[in-house]
Amino acid sequence: MSKAHRGKGIRELAFHGRGECPVCKRTNVKILYEQESGGVKIKICKTCRAAVKHGKKSLPVIAAEAAAT
Ligand SMILES: [Zn+2]
Repeated sequence: MSKAHRGKGIRELAFHGRGECPVCKRTNVKILYEQESGGVKIKICKTCRAAVKHGKKSLPVIAAEAAAT
């Protein structure tokens, strides 16, 4: 399972794993990193995953939305 976020591995994904990141709202970035937010797993981009990991960003909005619906 090396290079899970690069090359052939992401070619089969829709839009090659690219899309809009729910955290930073940037478009056409690779959304390949799973983060748990209030029991819900969401996919975010690389930079946001790093930011969340270091406590610089959080994912409360998505969790609240998921709980409401
Ligand atoms: Zn992001």
